[in-house]
Amino acid sequence: MKKIGVIGSGTMGNGIAHVFAQNGYKVSLIDVSSDALSKAINTISKNLDRQVAKGILKEDEKDSIVKNITPFTDLEKGVKECELVIEAATENPEIKFKIFSDLDCLCLKDVILASNTSSISITKIGSHTKRSDKVIGMHFMNPVPVMKLIEIIRGYNTSDEVTATIMELSRKIGKNPVEVNDYPGFVANRILMPMINEAIYALFENVGGVEEIDTVMKLGMAHPMGPLQLADFIGLDVCLYILRVMYEGLGNPKYAPCPLLVNMVAAGNLGIKSGIGFYVHTAGSKELTVAPGFKK
Ligand code: NAD
Repeated sequence: MKKIGVIGSGTMGNGIAHVFAQNGYKVSLIDVSSDALSKAINTISKNLDRQVAKGILKEDEKDSIVKNITPFTDLEKGVKECELVIEAATENPEIKFKIFSDLDCLCLKDVILASNTSSISITKIGSHTKRSDKVIGMHFMNPVPVMKLIEIIRGYNTSDEVTATIMELSRKIGKNPVEVNDYPGFVANRILMPMINEAIYALFENVGGVEEIDTVMKLGMAHPMGPLQLADFIGLDVCLYILRVMYEGLGNPKYAPCPLLVNMVAAGNLGIKSGIGFYVHTAGSKELTVAPGFKK
């Protein structure tokens, strides 16, 4: 493969484009928003500057990486001649189903179509195409240029050949792929989200305060950040959405989101993206202050 299409140029899409471009692939970066595309190219360029400053990259290498990425707002033009398309658009089933049904018409029949979804069924996404054997999940972790894991999700019909191709490609771009099957939450979120939810319950039931819960998990379990800080980083709306997918998809009350999480999302306290969650987040500052409602 030489040319990859990446759909969605937000947090994940720009990271995925960065990694493929850095590994010598031509990347078509496609988004419905031209603002999002300009922001993405800017972010990639800044992240590469950081690598230059650290001596990981030379200035001329940086330029050729940026040149490997071409932005498009037109899906048909963007995916032309791409041998693999990775969708990293907004986590909304209807948006993804439409993108995959369009891709199925626009791409040659042997092109593999991958989704970076955190929670939507790959099998269901595949059913919106006539090539469900070539539809697969590539669940990159955030921030993509730093994190080594890609959870490779096999839909019910994904073929062995397509899985092997994507596993090999993931290794070629320096990542560690892990193959899993398509059930709600896959493996990463199936284990992570109940832990985050339980931490929120522990706060809700006053077992401990925000700092106490996070400190126990950081110092006691050697986690780099506590579960409440991590929830703020992921976005509380995203956590709630994934828990609901697991609750409905697995039909087990143990995945029911904590009422405190539901309330915080309804109030618009979404974590870093809204400036307040379990902590207060000030742009440009790494200092963490417990949000006023949780102060003792
Ligand atoms: P984001 O909101 O930062 O970016 C989404 C982008 O998709 C936006 O720029 C939007 O304009 C674009 N978009 C929406 N509809 C589109 C369409 N029809 N065609 C082209 N572009 C379209 O979202 P994100 O955080 O980058 O998440 C993207 C995907 O990655 C989601 O499926 C999410 O679940 C998954 N994911 C996110 C994370 C994370 O930590 N943010 C981690 C792993 C996986």
